[in-house]
Amino acid sequence: MSGGEYMPTCSHCHREWTYWQAFKQSFRLTKICPFCRKENYEGNQKQGGIYSLILVLLFILANSFFDIPIAWVLPIVIIYFVLFTFIRPCFMKLYTKQQPYW
Ligand SMILES: [Zn+2]
Repeated sequence: MSGGEYMPTCSHCHREWTYWQAFKQSFRLTKICPFCRKENYEGNQKQGGIYSLILVLLFILANSFFDIPIAWVLPIVIIYFVLFTFIRPCFMKLYTKQQPYW
């Protein structure tokens, strides 16, 4: 997986990161560019958190409405979080400064 308009681009040197470079940096609050070693900050971090929270709440609601066995819920949530972890690098928006939390 390389190239394409979906991978994050360094806000300093504007070079595109590869998927694995972005993946490694997605676990860090401050993302160090593998090319210029400068710090980048993620812009849509809070958004991602809200989406995952909504999804977890939906699972809980679905569980109480449709009587989904509780044993199903946990694997679904785990699969979602694994998927989210792997998809997240593709949606990272990098900024030179930390974005304000509004
Ligand atoms: Zn850079």
